[in-house]
Amino acid sequence: MTQTIRHARCACGAVQVQTRGEPKRSMLCSCADCRRKTGSPFNWTLYWPEADVMVTGATKTFRRAGQDGRGVDCNLCATCGGTVWWRLDALPREIAVGGGFFDATDLPPPTIAYWTESRPAWTLDLAAIPAEARQ
Ligand SMILES: [Zn+2]
Ligand SMILES: [Zn+2]
Repeated sequence: MTQTIRHARCACGAVQVQTRGEPKRSMLCSCADCRRKTGSPFNWTLYWPEADVMVTGATKTFRRAGQDGRGVDCNLCATCGGTVWWRLDALPREIAVGGGFFDATDLPPPTIAYWTESRPAWTLDLAAIPAEARQ
């Protein structure tokens, strides 16, 4: 069976991530730390076993405590600052990759959304916002 290969990269392209196969999890988080990391009400995160992820490019690690008391190592591109991938203390054998860094649009949708109480009310009904395929 052929496994799907997908590529993610930061804005400048210095940090590249290749994933093999389907992620183990796909989720949204809107906790304060995730909102500050992304500048967005959502942090869409997908997790692969570390054996299925290949990372290239220099990063600077920013360690944050995490709201549940468990740490996260966020790996920022040394040039553009994009945090393409990170690792949770709670999931030490998995690599987390931000969904927005992929060009692929066939990633599995989130199966759970955490910290919805931290989201602006309008985000609960995105379908109500007039949408254009491109700007
Ligand atoms: Zn970069
Ligand atoms: Zn979060």
